[in-house]
Amino acid sequence: MTKKEQSPPLDGPTSRGTAAPNLVAPAAQPRAEAPNLAPEGGQTSRGTAAPNLAASAAQPRAEAPNLAPEGGQTSIAPATLREMFHTLPPEEFKELARRQEIAEWRRINRFCGCCGAEMRRHENPEERAMVCPSCGYVAYPKITPAVIVLVTKGDSILLQRNSHYHVPYWSLVAGFVDPGENFEEAVRREIREEASIEVRDIRYFGSQCWPFPSNMMVGFRAEYASGDLRPDGEEVMESGWFTRETLPPIPRPRSLARALIDAWLAQ
Ligand SMILES: [Zn+2]
Repeated sequence: MTKKEQSPPLDGPTSRGTAAPNLVAPAAQPRAEAPNLAPEGGQTSRGTAAPNLAASAAQPRAEAPNLAPEGGQTSIAPATLREMFHTLPPEEFKELARRQEIAEWRRINRFCGCCGAEMRRHENPEERAMVCPSCGYVAYPKITPAVIVLVTKGDSILLQRNSHYHVPYWSLVAGFVDPGENFEEAVRREIREEASIEVRDIRYFGSQCWPFPSNMMVGFRAEYASGDLRPDGEEVMESGWFTRETLPPIPRPRSLARALIDAWLAQ
């Protein structure tokens, strides 16, 4: 994958997985030639008709520390925000994360990505958007999806140690969704890339807002299907199948990775 340097932290976030229905996706879908595809990175002006992102103006808010008004500047160092993820009451962290994501979005959209002009807030305060007065480009907050997967094989699960996370635990396969992919395709690709194996029975587990800076972790379970486990040696240094009795150190509570592992332990 192409975002190695900013892969989603493997101890993703916390929404307790609610065993969800089997969302197995059809693996191979017929492809129709889409018209007017620009070369990668080229121009494909997509309609700007953005979905109605009605601003969540009135929401219950918990008093979290040092909250700037929505859209104001709150710059909490990433490491501090990460620590807060583990220490603040979940509802407080949720509100803090929401504001932090919005503040970060405002910060990186001060100038138009199309023409460079200074962006302004949408004239309708209910509309959470930045607008370019020069070319009309409208920027809405962007959330970047990433998948995280618990792969089972008999009574074992796949865990791996990553090279670019300086953490003392093993975790699950995870990675960003690529342009053009759906979640299931991303799951298959990431597992193929990182572990050299194929999986089947991909099932949705749960998701978690991961505001570092604006990701959405989407958790799945999958069954081993074929192939010899082999870490890629680049992103993943070690990998293995672990039973309940042989688990190495695993991610801390509250993360989606941990919720996936805990649900498997409890079954
Ligand atoms: Zn512009």
